[in-house]
Amino acid sequence: MEQAKYTYDELLNRNKELEHQLEEANDTLEAIRSGQVDALIVKGDNGHQLYTLKTADQTYRVFIEKMNEGAVTLNRFGVILYCNSRFADMMNLPLEKVIGINFETFIPEISEEKFNELIKKGWYEDCKGEILLSNKEFQLTPCLVSCTTLDLDEGVALSLILTDLTHQKEAEWELKVKNEQLIIAQNAAEKLNNELEDTVKERTNDLLISREHFKLLANNIPQMTWTNLPGGEVDFYNQQWFNYTGRRYGETAGWGWQQIVHPDDLSNTMDKYVNALKTGDDFEVENRYKRWDNTYRWHLNRAIPLRDDKGEIIFWVGTATDIEDQKKEMDRKDEFIGIASHELKTPLTSLKGYLQLITSYKKEEVPPVVKQYIEKASVAINKLQRLVNDLLDVSKIQAGKLEYALDRVNLPALIALIIENAKHIYPLHEFESQLIPGLYITGNAERLEQVLMNFINNAVKYSQSNKRIILQTDVHDGVVRVSVTDFGIGLSEEQLDKIFERFYRVEDKKYMTSGLGMGLYISTEIINNHHGKIGVESELGKGATFYFELQLIE
Ligand code: ADP
Repeated sequence: MEQAKYTYDELLNRNKELEHQLEEANDTLEAIRSGQVDALIVKGDNGHQLYTLKTADQTYRVFIEKMNEGAVTLNRFGVILYCNSRFADMMNLPLEKVIGINFETFIPEISEEKFNELIKKGWYEDCKGEILLSNKEFQLTPCLVSCTTLDLDEGVALSLILTDLTHQKEAEWELKVKNEQLIIAQNAAEKLNNELEDTVKERTNDLLISREHFKLLANNIPQMTWTNLPGGEVDFYNQQWFNYTGRRYGETAGWGWQQIVHPDDLSNTMDKYVNALKTGDDFEVENRYKRWDNTYRWHLNRAIPLRDDKGEIIFWVGTATDIEDQKKEMDRKDEFIGIASHELKTPLTSLKGYLQLITSYKKEEVPPVVKQYIEKASVAINKLQRLVNDLLDVSKIQAGKLEYALDRVNLPALIALIIENAKHIYPLHEFESQLIPGLYITGNAERLEQVLMNFINNAVKYSQSNKRIILQTDVHDGVVRVSVTDFGIGLSEEQLDKIFERFYRVEDKKYMTSGLGMGLYISTEIINNHHGKIGVESELGKGATFYFELQLIE
Protein backbone atom coordinates (compact mmCIF):
# COMPACT_ATOMS: atom_id res chain seq x y z
CA MET A 1 0.00 0.00 0.00
CA GLU A 2 1.22 3.47 -0.92
CA GLN A 3 0.33 5.03 2.44
CA ALA A 4 2.84 2.80 4.12
CA LYS A 5 5.59 4.74 2.43
CA TYR A 6 5.06 7.68 4.91
CA THR A 7 5.84 7.68 8.56
CA TYR A 8 3.46 9.22 10.99
CA ASP A 9 5.60 12.36 11.37
CA GLU A 10 5.91 12.75 7.64
CA LEU A 11 2.14 12.52 7.34
CA LEU A 12 1.75 15.16 10.04
CA ASN A 13 4.13 17.49 8.19
CA ARG A 14 2.41 16.86 4.87
CA ASN A 15 -0.95 17.60 6.45
CA LYS A 16 0.35 20.86 7.87
CA GLU A 17 1.75 21.81 4.45
CA LEU A 18 -1.59 21.08 2.76
CA GLU A 19 -3.49 23.06 5.41
CA HIS A 20 -1.16 25.96 4.74
CA GLN A 21 -1.70 25.70 0.99
CA LEU A 22 -5.49 25.60 1.46
CA GLU A 23 -5.35 28.69 3.65
CA GLU A 24 -3.32 30.47 1.00
CA ALA A 25 -5.72 29.40 -1.74
CA ASN A 26 -8.73 30.61 0.30
CA ASP A 27 -7.05 33.97 1.02
CA THR A 28 -6.33 34.36 -2.67
CA LEU A 29 -9.91 33.51 -3.58
CA GLU A 30 -11.21 36.00 -0.98
CA ALA A 31 -8.83 38.64 -2.35
CA ILE A 32 -10.11 38.04 -5.86
CA ARG A 33 -13.73 38.07 -4.71
CA SER A 34 -13.46 41.27 -2.72
CA GLY A 35 -11.61 42.97 -5.58
CA GLN A 36 -8.21 43.33 -3.87
CA VAL A 37 -6.48 41.38 -6.68
CA ASP A 38 -6.72 42.09 -10.40
CA ALA A 39 -4.28 39.49 -11.72
CA LEU A 40 -2.61 36.24 -10.70
CA ILE A 41 0.72 34.69 -11.66
CA VAL A 42 0.49 30.93 -11.60
CA LYS A 43 3.41 28.52 -12.10
CA GLY A 44 2.61 25.81 -14.67
CA ASP A 45 4.43 23.11 -16.62
CA ASN A 46 5.37 25.74 -19.20
CA GLY A 47 6.73 28.18 -16.73
CA HIS A 48 4.88 31.14 -15.08
CA GLN A 49 1.62 32.37 -16.59
CA LEU A 50 -0.24 35.65 -15.85
CA TYR A 51 -3.99 35.38 -15.35
CA THR A 52 -5.70 38.77 -15.45
CA LEU A 53 -9.29 39.06 -14.23
CA LYS A 54 -10.46 40.79 -17.41
CA THR A 55 -14.19 39.99 -17.42
CA ALA A 56 -14.87 41.18 -13.95
CA ASP A 57 -13.00 44.22 -12.93
CA GLN A 58 -13.07 45.23 -9.33
CA THR A 59 -16.31 47.26 -9.41
CA TYR A 60 -18.24 44.52 -11.13
CA ARG A 61 -16.92 41.87 -8.84
CA VAL A 62 -17.99 43.83 -5.80
CA PHE A 63 -21.33 44.49 -7.42
CA ILE A 64 -21.90 40.82 -8.21
CA GLU A 65 -20.84 39.82 -4.71
CA LYS A 66 -23.26 42.27 -3.12
CA MET A 67 -26.24 41.83 -5.41
CA ASN A 68 -29.46 40.23 -4.28
CA GLU A 69 -29.56 37.63 -7.04
CA GLY A 70 -27.49 34.46 -7.12
CA ALA A 71 -24.75 34.50 -9.76
CA VAL A 72 -23.17 31.27 -11.03
CA THR A 73 -20.74 30.42 -13.88
CA LEU A 74 -20.80 26.90 -15.30
CA ASN A 75 -18.45 25.08 -17.66
CA ARG A 76 -19.63 22.79 -20.45
CA PHE A 77 -20.11 19.95 -17.97
CA GLY A 78 -22.27 21.96 -15.66
CA VAL A 79 -19.54 22.27 -13.03
CA ILE A 80 -19.70 25.47 -10.99
CA LEU A 81 -16.63 27.56 -11.74
CA TYR A 82 -17.70 30.54 -9.73
CA CYS A 83 -20.66 31.64 -7.59
CA ASN A 84 -21.42 34.62 -5.37
CA SER A 85 -22.21 34.39 -1.66
CA ARG A 86 -25.90 35.06 -2.29
CA PHE A 87 -26.18 31.82 -4.27
CA ALA A 88 -24.35 29.90 -1.52
CA ASP A 89 -26.82 31.43 0.99
CA MET A 90 -29.76 30.40 -1.16
CA MET A 91 -28.49 26.84 -1.13
CA ASN A 92 -27.65 27.05 2.55
CA LEU A 93 -24.00 25.95 1.99
CA PRO A 94 -20.62 27.61 2.65
CA LEU A 95 -19.19 29.13 -0.50
CA GLU A 96 -16.21 26.76 -0.76
CA LYS A 97 -18.54 23.75 -0.77
CA VAL A 98 -20.47 25.12 -3.77
CA ILE A 99 -17.59 25.88 -6.14
CA GLY A 100 -16.47 22.81 -8.01
CA ILE A 101 -19.63 20.79 -7.75
CA ASN A 102 -22.12 20.12 -10.55
CA PHE A 103 -25.05 22.52 -10.70
CA GLU A 104 -27.38 19.57 -11.27
CA THR A 105 -26.91 18.74 -7.57
CA PHE A 106 -29.33 21.61 -6.87
CA ILE A 107 -31.94 20.58 -9.43
CA PRO A 108 -34.80 18.47 -8.03
CA GLU A 109 -36.22 15.76 -10.25
CA ILE A 110 -39.35 17.75 -10.97
CA SER A 111 -37.31 20.54 -12.62
CA GLU A 112 -34.69 18.39 -14.36
CA GLU A 113 -36.24 18.38 -17.81
CA LYS A 114 -36.94 22.08 -17.83
CA PHE A 115 -33.45 22.89 -16.54
CA ASN A 116 -31.72 20.75 -19.16
CA GLU A 117 -33.68 22.43 -21.92
CA LEU A 118 -32.84 25.85 -20.52
CA ILE A 119 -29.12 25.12 -20.24
CA LYS A 120 -29.04 23.60 -23.69
CA LYS A 121 -30.62 26.70 -25.15
CA GLY A 122 -28.51 28.98 -22.96
CA TRP A 123 -25.30 27.93 -24.68
CA TYR A 124 -26.65 29.32 -28.00
CA GLU A 125 -28.70 32.32 -27.01
CA ASP A 126 -29.70 34.38 -23.99
CA CYS A 127 -32.77 32.86 -22.41
CA LYS A 128 -34.86 32.81 -19.25
CA GLY A 129 -36.99 30.28 -17.44
CA GLU A 130 -38.52 29.44 -14.10
CA ILE A 131 -37.24 26.37 -12.28
CA LEU A 132 -37.13 25.00 -8.76
CA LEU A 133 -33.84 24.68 -6.88
CA SER A 134 -33.35 22.30 -3.99
CA ASN A 135 -30.86 22.73 -1.16
CA LYS A 136 -29.36 19.82 0.72
CA GLU A 137 -32.33 19.83 3.13
CA PHE A 138 -34.58 19.37 0.06
CA GLN A 139 -36.21 22.73 0.58
CA LEU A 140 -37.42 23.99 -2.79
CA THR A 141 -36.88 27.58 -3.92
CA PRO A 142 -38.64 28.86 -7.05
CA CYS A 143 -36.15 30.83 -9.18
CA LEU A 144 -36.06 32.79 -12.38
CA VAL A 145 -32.90 31.76 -14.24
CA SER A 146 -31.35 34.08 -16.84
CA CYS A 147 -28.69 32.37 -18.97
CA THR A 148 -26.01 34.09 -20.97
CA THR A 149 -22.65 32.90 -22.27
CA LEU A 150 -19.39 34.51 -21.19
CA ASP A 151 -16.35 34.60 -23.45
CA LEU A 152 -13.40 33.99 -21.13
CA ASP A 153 -9.77 33.46 -22.06
CA GLU A 154 -10.01 29.95 -20.80
CA GLY A 155 -12.96 29.28 -23.04
CA VAL A 156 -16.71 29.95 -23.07
CA ALA A 157 -18.64 29.70 -19.75
CA LEU A 158 -22.36 29.90 -19.05
CA SER A 159 -23.45 32.51 -16.59
CA LEU A 160 -26.66 32.05 -14.63
CA ILE A 161 -28.36 34.83 -12.69
CA LEU A 162 -30.88 33.35 -10.27
CA THR A 163 -33.67 35.49 -8.84
CA ASP A 164 -35.41 34.04 -5.80
CA LEU A 165 -39.15 34.10 -6.64
CA THR A 166 -40.36 32.86 -3.24
CA HIS A 167 -41.96 36.20 -2.29
CA GLN A 168 -43.41 36.79 -5.74
CA LYS A 169 -44.82 33.28 -5.74
CA GLU A 170 -46.33 33.79 -2.31
CA ALA A 171 -47.78 37.08 -3.43
CA GLU A 172 -48.97 35.46 -6.65
CA TRP A 173 -50.54 32.66 -4.63
CA GLU A 174 -52.22 35.09 -2.29
CA LEU A 175 -53.41 37.07 -5.27
CA LYS A 176 -54.75 33.90 -6.81
CA VAL A 177 -56.58 32.98 -3.60
CA LYS A 178 -57.89 36.53 -3.30
CA ASN A 179 -58.96 36.43 -6.95
CA GLU A 180 -60.79 33.20 -6.40
CA GLN A 181 -62.48 34.64 -3.33
CA LEU A 182 -63.35 37.72 -5.36
CA ILE A 183 -64.90 35.60 -8.07
CA ILE A 184 -66.94 33.68 -5.47
CA ALA A 185 -68.04 36.97 -3.89
CA GLN A 186 -68.84 38.42 -7.31
CA ASN A 187 -70.94 35.41 -8.18
CA ALA A 188 -72.78 35.64 -4.86
CA ALA A 189 -73.33 39.37 -5.39
CA GLU A 190 -74.62 38.75 -8.89
CA LYS A 191 -77.00 36.10 -7.60
CA LEU A 192 -78.19 38.42 -4.86
CA ASN A 193 -78.60 41.21 -7.34
CA ASN A 194 -80.71 39.02 -9.59
CA GLU A 195 -82.85 37.97 -6.64
CA LEU A 196 -83.16 41.59 -5.58
CA GLU A 197 -84.18 42.63 -9.07
CA ASP A 198 -86.84 39.93 -9.06
CA THR A 199 -88.10 41.06 -5.64
CA VAL A 200 -88.10 44.70 -6.72
CA LYS A 201 -90.05 43.78 -9.85
CA GLU A 202 -92.53 41.81 -7.76
CA ARG A 203 -92.86 44.58 -5.17
CA THR A 204 -93.18 47.26 -7.83
CA ASN A 205 -95.97 45.27 -9.32
CA ASP A 206 -97.64 44.82 -5.91
CA LEU A 207 -97.17 48.50 -5.23
CA LEU A 208 -98.67 49.42 -8.57
CA ILE A 209 -101.70 47.26 -7.89
CA SER A 210 -102.17 48.60 -4.37
CA ARG A 211 -101.62 52.19 -5.56
CA GLU A 212 -104.28 51.66 -8.24
CA HIS A 213 -106.60 50.21 -5.59
CA PHE A 214 -105.97 53.18 -3.34
CA LYS A 215 -106.56 55.67 -6.17
CA LEU A 216 -109.74 53.91 -7.23
CA LEU A 217 -110.99 53.93 -3.65
CA ALA A 218 -109.89 57.49 -2.96
CA ASN A 219 -111.48 58.88 -6.11
CA ASN A 220 -114.78 57.10 -5.58
CA ILE A 221 -115.69 58.13 -2.07
CA PRO A 222 -117.72 61.32 -1.58
CA GLN A 223 -115.23 62.82 0.90
CA MET A 224 -112.16 64.78 -0.05
CA THR A 225 -109.04 62.85 0.91
CA TRP A 226 -105.36 63.57 1.08
CA THR A 227 -102.08 62.05 2.25
CA ASN A 228 -99.34 64.05 3.89
CA LEU A 229 -95.75 63.32 4.83
CA PRO A 230 -94.54 63.17 8.47
CA GLY A 231 -93.25 66.73 8.05
CA GLY A 232 -96.77 67.94 7.13
CA GLU A 233 -96.45 68.46 3.36
CA VAL A 234 -99.46 67.16 1.45
CA ASP A 235 -98.39 64.91 -1.43
CA PHE A 236 -101.73 63.54 -2.65
CA TYR A 237 -105.34 64.72 -3.08
CA ASN A 238 -108.22 62.75 -4.54
CA GLN A 239 -110.35 63.98 -7.45
CA GLN A 240 -113.07 65.35 -5.12
CA TRP A 241 -110.56 67.85 -3.72
CA PHE A 242 -109.79 69.23 -7.16
CA ASN A 243 -113.49 69.28 -8.09
CA TYR A 244 -114.34 71.20 -4.90
CA THR A 245 -111.44 73.68 -4.84
CA GLY A 246 -111.14 74.13 -8.61
CA ARG A 247 -107.36 74.24 -8.10
CA ARG A 248 -104.56 72.29 -9.74
CA TYR A 249 -102.29 69.93 -7.78
CA GLY A 250 -99.35 72.34 -7.64
CA GLU A 251 -101.47 75.12 -6.11
CA THR A 252 -102.51 73.28 -2.95
CA ALA A 253 -99.81 70.57 -2.60
CA GLY A 254 -97.25 70.90 0.22
CA TRP A 255 -98.63 73.66 2.47
CA GLY A 256 -100.62 75.32 -0.33
CA TRP A 257 -103.92 74.14 1.22
CA GLN A 258 -103.63 76.97 3.77
CA GLN A 259 -104.84 79.44 1.11
CA ILE A 260 -108.25 77.82 0.93
CA VAL A 261 -108.86 77.53 4.70
CA HIS A 262 -111.10 80.33 6.00
CA PRO A 263 -108.81 82.96 7.59
CA ASP A 264 -110.76 82.76 10.89
CA ASP A 265 -110.21 78.97 11.07
CA LEU A 266 -106.57 78.87 9.97
CA SER A 267 -104.86 79.39 13.32
CA ASN A 268 -106.95 76.69 15.07
CA THR A 269 -106.44 74.31 12.11
CA MET A 270 -102.68 74.89 12.13
CA ASP A 271 -102.44 74.41 15.92
CA LYS A 272 -104.21 71.06 15.76
CA TYR A 273 -102.32 69.96 12.60
CA VAL A 274 -98.87 70.79 13.97
CA ASN A 275 -99.74 69.22 17.32
CA ALA A 276 -100.83 65.97 15.60
CA LEU A 277 -97.59 65.89 13.56
CA LYS A 278 -95.61 66.40 16.75
CA THR A 279 -97.40 63.85 18.93
CA GLY A 280 -98.53 61.32 16.30
CA ASP A 281 -102.07 61.51 17.79
CA ASP A 282 -105.07 61.44 15.44
CA PHE A 283 -105.89 64.82 13.87
CA GLU A 284 -109.42 66.23 14.04
CA VAL A 285 -110.63 69.74 13.33
CA GLU A 286 -113.66 71.52 11.93
CA ASN A 287 -112.96 74.33 9.48
CA ARG A 288 -114.27 76.07 6.39
CA TYR A 289 -112.74 75.44 2.93
CA LYS A 290 -113.17 77.85 0.03
CA ARG A 291 -115.04 76.28 -2.90
CA TRP A 292 -114.28 76.99 -6.57
CA ASP A 293 -117.10 79.60 -6.53
CA ASN A 294 -115.47 81.44 -3.57
CA THR A 295 -118.09 80.31 -1.03
CA TYR A 296 -116.99 78.60 2.16
CA ARG A 297 -118.39 75.34 3.46
CA TRP A 298 -117.76 73.71 6.85
CA HIS A 299 -115.75 70.47 6.85
CA LEU A 300 -114.83 67.93 9.47
CA ASN A 301 -111.16 66.95 8.94
CA ARG A 302 -109.72 63.76 10.28
CA ALA A 303 -106.26 62.25 9.68
CA ILE A 304 -104.57 59.16 11.04
CA PRO A 305 -100.89 58.22 10.77
CA LEU A 306 -99.68 55.08 8.96
CA ARG A 307 -96.72 53.52 10.71
CA ASP A 308 -94.01 51.04 9.68
CA ASP A 309 -92.93 47.91 11.63
CA LYS A 310 -90.83 50.06 13.95
CA GLY A 311 -93.70 52.40 14.71
CA GLU A 312 -92.22 55.27 12.67
CA ILE A 313 -94.83 57.33 10.78
CA ILE A 314 -94.61 56.80 7.00
CA PHE A 315 -97.42 59.16 6.05
CA TRP A 316 -100.83 60.40 7.16
CA VAL A 317 -104.18 59.65 5.53
CA GLY A 318 -106.75 62.40 5.89
CA THR A 319 -110.39 62.97 5.00
CA ALA A 320 -112.48 66.14 4.88
CA THR A 321 -116.24 65.58 5.16
CA ASP A 322 -118.65 68.34 4.19
CA ILE A 323 -120.73 69.14 7.33
CA GLU A 324 -122.13 72.43 6.09
CA ASP A 325 -125.72 71.09 6.08
CA GLN A 326 -125.40 69.55 9.55
CA LYS A 327 -123.87 72.79 10.84
CA LYS A 328 -126.81 74.76 9.44
CA GLU A 329 -129.19 72.27 11.02
CA MET A 330 -127.41 72.67 14.36
CA ASP A 331 -127.54 76.45 14.06
CA ARG A 332 -131.26 76.28 13.31
CA LYS A 333 -131.77 73.96 16.28
CA ASP A 334 -129.77 76.28 18.56
CA GLU A 335 -131.75 79.22 17.29
CA PHE A 336 -134.98 77.32 17.94
CA ILE A 337 -133.85 76.33 21.44
CA GLY A 338 -132.90 79.95 22.11
CA ILE A 339 -136.30 81.24 21.01
CA ALA A 340 -138.25 78.42 22.68
CA SER A 341 -136.50 78.81 26.03
CA HIS A 342 -136.97 82.54 25.85
CA GLU A 343 -140.65 82.02 25.14
CA LEU A 344 -140.87 79.48 27.98
CA LYS A 345 -139.15 81.76 30.43
CA THR A 346 -141.85 84.46 30.47
CA PRO A 347 -144.87 82.24 31.38
CA LEU A 348 -142.62 80.35 33.79
CA THR A 349 -141.68 83.51 35.61
CA SER A 350 -145.34 84.56 35.93
CA LEU A 351 -146.26 81.03 37.07
CA LYS A 352 -143.61 81.23 39.76
CA GLY A 353 -144.87 84.66 40.83
CA TYR A 354 -148.46 83.44 41.14
CA LEU A 355 -147.33 80.46 43.20
CA GLN A 356 -145.47 82.78 45.53
CA LEU A 357 -148.59 84.89 45.87
CA ILE A 358 -150.65 81.80 46.77
CA THR A 359 -148.04 80.71 49.38
CA SER A 360 -148.23 84.08 51.00
CA TYR A 361 -151.89 83.40 51.99
CA LYS A 362 -152.39 82.67 55.66
CA LYS A 363 -152.50 78.99 56.65
CA GLU A 364 -156.13 79.15 57.81
CA GLU A 365 -157.23 80.39 54.43
CA VAL A 366 -155.60 77.60 52.39
CA PRO A 367 -156.31 73.96 53.19
CA PRO A 368 -153.06 72.16 54.23
CA VAL A 369 -153.25 69.71 51.34
CA VAL A 370 -153.30 72.60 48.85
CA LYS A 371 -150.29 74.05 50.64
CA GLN A 372 -148.48 70.72 50.01
CA TYR A 373 -149.41 70.79 46.34
CA ILE A 374 -148.11 74.31 46.09
CA GLU A 375 -144.74 73.28 47.57
CA LYS A 376 -144.45 70.40 45.12
CA ALA A 377 -145.39 72.70 42.23
CA SER A 378 -142.67 75.12 43.42
CA VAL A 379 -140.01 72.39 43.32
CA ALA A 380 -141.11 71.37 39.80
CA ILE A 381 -141.13 74.96 38.63
CA ASN A 382 -137.61 75.57 40.04
CA LYS A 383 -136.38 72.53 38.18
CA LEU A 384 -138.07 73.69 35.00
CA GLN A 385 -136.58 77.12 35.44
CA ARG A 386 -133.09 75.63 35.80
CA LEU A 387 -133.59 73.63 32.63
CA VAL A 388 -134.86 76.63 30.69
CA ASN A 389 -131.93 78.71 31.98
CA ASP A 390 -129.48 76.02 30.91
CA LEU A 391 -131.06 75.85 27.46
CA LEU A 392 -130.82 79.59 27.16
CA ASP A 393 -127.17 79.51 28.21
CA VAL A 394 -126.37 76.84 25.65
CA SER A 395 -127.92 78.83 22.84
CA LYS A 396 -126.08 81.95 24.06
CA ILE A 397 -122.78 80.05 24.05
CA GLN A 398 -123.47 78.83 20.52
CA ALA A 399 -124.16 82.36 19.40
CA GLY A 400 -121.06 83.58 21.27
CA LYS A 401 -123.21 85.78 23.51
CA LEU A 402 -122.63 84.39 26.99
CA GLU A 403 -121.57 87.66 28.55
CA TYR A 404 -121.31 88.86 32.15
CA ALA A 405 -119.48 91.37 34.30
CA LEU A 406 -116.34 90.39 36.25
CA ASP A 407 -115.73 91.55 39.85
CA ARG A 408 -113.43 90.86 42.75
CA VAL A 409 -114.85 87.75 44.42
CA ASN A 410 -114.13 86.38 47.91
CA LEU A 411 -114.11 82.71 46.90
CA PRO A 412 -114.30 80.90 50.32
CA ALA A 413 -117.15 83.22 51.38
CA LEU A 414 -119.01 82.41 48.18
CA ILE A 415 -118.42 78.66 48.64
CA ALA A 416 -119.62 78.79 52.26
CA LEU A 417 -122.89 80.39 51.06
CA ILE A 418 -123.28 77.75 48.35
CA ILE A 419 -122.79 74.97 50.92
CA GLU A 420 -125.49 76.49 53.13
CA ASN A 421 -127.81 76.57 50.17
CA ALA A 422 -126.93 72.98 49.17
CA LYS A 423 -127.55 71.70 52.71
CA HIS A 424 -130.99 73.26 52.50
CA ILE A 425 -131.78 71.68 49.10
CA TYR A 426 -130.23 68.27 49.87
CA PRO A 427 -130.91 67.70 53.59
CA LEU A 428 -130.11 63.98 53.30
CA HIS A 429 -126.49 64.53 52.18
CA GLU A 430 -123.53 65.30 54.41
CA PHE A 431 -121.55 68.28 53.21
CA GLU A 432 -117.99 68.69 54.50
CA SER A 433 -115.75 71.60 53.68
CA GLN A 434 -112.08 72.43 53.94
CA LEU A 435 -111.75 76.05 52.91
CA ILE A 436 -108.74 78.36 53.07
CA PRO A 437 -110.00 81.85 54.06
CA GLY A 438 -109.20 85.07 52.19
CA LEU A 439 -108.81 83.80 48.63
CA TYR A 440 -109.73 86.43 46.04
CA ILE A 441 -110.21 86.02 42.30
CA THR A 442 -111.62 88.06 39.44
CA GLY A 443 -114.89 86.57 38.25
CA ASN A 444 -118.65 86.53 38.16
CA ALA A 445 -120.04 85.20 41.46
CA GLU A 446 -123.35 84.16 39.95
CA ARG A 447 -121.74 82.16 37.13
CA LEU A 448 -119.19 80.52 39.49
CA GLU A 449 -122.10 79.57 41.76
CA GLN A 450 -123.78 78.03 38.72
CA VAL A 451 -120.64 75.91 38.08
CA LEU A 452 -120.33 74.78 41.68
CA MET A 453 -124.06 74.03 41.96
CA ASN A 454 -123.75 71.94 38.81
CA PHE A 455 -120.88 69.96 40.42
CA ILE A 456 -122.96 69.55 43.60
CA ASN A 457 -126.16 68.57 41.74
CA ASN A 458 -124.20 65.91 39.85
CA ALA A 459 -122.46 64.68 43.01
CA VAL A 460 -125.87 64.19 44.57
CA LYS A 461 -127.41 62.64 41.43
CA TYR A 462 -124.60 60.11 40.87
CA SER A 463 -123.98 59.02 44.47
CA GLN A 464 -127.21 57.72 45.87
CA SER A 465 -125.72 55.18 48.33
CA ASN A 466 -122.78 57.13 49.85
CA LYS A 467 -124.01 60.57 50.85
CA ARG A 468 -120.72 62.25 51.73
CA ILE A 469 -119.74 65.28 49.64
CA ILE A 470 -116.55 67.29 50.24
CA LEU A 471 -115.92 70.86 49.08
CA GLN A 472 -112.31 71.93 49.23
CA THR A 473 -109.91 74.71 48.26
CA ASP A 474 -106.20 74.17 47.58
CA VAL A 475 -103.60 76.74 46.62
CA HIS A 476 -100.62 76.10 44.40
CA ASP A 477 -98.31 78.63 42.67
CA GLY A 478 -100.83 81.45 42.93
CA VAL A 479 -103.68 79.29 41.61
CA VAL A 480 -106.69 78.14 43.64
CA ARG A 481 -108.34 74.80 42.94
CA VAL A 482 -111.96 74.42 44.06
CA SER A 483 -113.11 70.82 44.10
CA VAL A 484 -116.26 68.82 44.81
CA THR A 485 -115.70 65.17 45.72
CA ASP A 486 -118.33 62.46 45.91
CA PHE A 487 -118.11 58.70 46.53
CA GLY A 488 -120.63 57.54 43.98
CA ILE A 489 -120.55 55.62 40.69
CA GLY A 490 -117.52 57.41 39.22
CA LEU A 491 -116.52 57.49 35.53
CA SER A 492 -114.54 55.27 33.18
CA GLU A 493 -111.46 56.60 31.30
CA GLU A 494 -113.42 56.71 28.07
CA GLN A 495 -116.24 58.71 29.66
CA LEU A 496 -113.78 61.15 31.24
CA ASP A 497 -112.77 62.42 27.80
CA LYS A 498 -116.30 63.18 26.72
CA ILE A 499 -118.34 64.50 29.62
CA PHE A 500 -117.45 68.15 28.95
CA GLU A 501 -118.95 67.95 25.45
CA ARG A 502 -122.34 69.40 24.65
CA PHE A 503 -125.33 67.10 25.40
CA TYR A 504 -123.07 64.22 26.45
CA ARG A 505 -124.63 61.80 28.91
CA VAL A 506 -123.32 58.42 30.01
CA GLU A 507 -125.54 55.84 28.35
CA ASP A 508 -125.92 53.48 31.27
CA LYS A 509 -129.52 52.51 31.90
CA LYS A 510 -128.63 51.37 35.42
CA TYR A 511 -127.76 54.89 36.49
CA MET A 512 -130.17 56.81 34.26
CA THR A 513 -131.16 60.02 36.00
CA SER A 514 -132.75 63.16 34.67
CA GLY A 515 -130.54 65.63 32.83
CA LEU A 516 -129.70 66.74 29.32
CA GLY A 517 -125.92 66.77 29.44
CA MET A 518 -125.71 70.57 29.39
CA GLY A 519 -124.40 71.35 32.89
CA LEU A 520 -120.69 70.49 32.38
CA TYR A 521 -120.69 72.01 28.90
CA ILE A 522 -121.93 75.34 30.28
CA SER A 523 -119.51 75.06 33.24
CA THR A 524 -116.60 74.56 30.85
CA GLU A 525 -117.56 77.66 28.88
CA ILE A 526 -117.84 79.73 32.07
CA ILE A 527 -114.45 78.58 33.43
CA ASN A 528 -112.82 79.12 30.01
CA ASN A 529 -114.21 82.64 29.98
CA HIS A 530 -112.57 83.13 33.38
CA HIS A 531 -109.26 81.96 31.80
CA GLY A 532 -109.28 79.02 34.21
CA LYS A 533 -109.13 75.28 33.92
CA ILE A 534 -111.85 72.70 34.51
CA GLY A 535 -111.26 69.00 35.10
CA VAL A 536 -112.16 65.74 36.75
CA GLU A 537 -110.36 62.89 38.47
CA SER A 538 -112.31 59.68 38.82
CA GLU A 539 -112.27 55.92 38.84
CA LEU A 540 -115.28 53.82 37.93
CA GLY A 541 -117.17 52.81 41.10
CA LYS A 542 -115.04 54.93 43.40
CA GLY A 543 -116.57 58.39 43.07
CA ALA A 544 -115.37 61.52 41.34
CA THR A 545 -113.69 64.85 42.04
CA PHE A 546 -114.72 67.69 39.75
CA TYR A 547 -112.70 70.87 40.02
CA PHE A 548 -111.89 74.24 38.50
CA GLU A 549 -108.77 76.35 38.91
CA LEU A 550 -108.50 80.15 38.83
CA GLN A 551 -105.69 82.65 39.20
CA LEU A 552 -105.59 84.32 42.66
CA ILE A 553 -105.42 88.08 43.06
CA GLU A 554 -104.24 90.20 46.02
P1 ADP B 1 -126.35 65.96 33.22
O1 ADP B 1 -127.40 67.02 33.24
O2 ADP B 1 -126.67 64.82 32.35
O3 ADP B 1 -125.86 65.59 34.56
P2 ADP B 1 -123.74 67.15 32.91
O4 ADP B 1 -123.13 67.89 31.76
O5 ADP B 1 -123.76 67.86 34.20
O6 ADP B 1 -125.16 66.68 32.45
O7 ADP B 1 -122.93 65.77 33.08
C1 ADP B 1 -122.63 65.01 31.94
C2 ADP B 1 -122.49 63.55 32.30
O8 ADP B 1 -121.34 63.38 33.14
C3 ADP B 1 -123.59 63.00 33.15
O9 ADP B 1 -124.65 62.52 32.32
C4 ADP B 1 -122.95 61.88 33.91
O10 ADP B 1 -122.96 60.72 33.14
C5 ADP B 1 -121.55 62.33 34.08
N1 ADP B 1 -121.27 62.88 35.44
C6 ADP B 1 -121.26 64.17 35.81
N2 ADP B 1 -120.96 64.28 37.14
C7 ADP B 1 -120.76 63.03 37.61
C8 ADP B 1 -120.41 62.49 38.90
N3 ADP B 1 -120.21 63.28 39.96
N4 ADP B 1 -120.27 61.13 38.98
C9 ADP B 1 -120.49 60.34 37.92
N5 ADP B 1 -120.81 60.78 36.68
C10 ADP B 1 -120.96 62.13 36.52
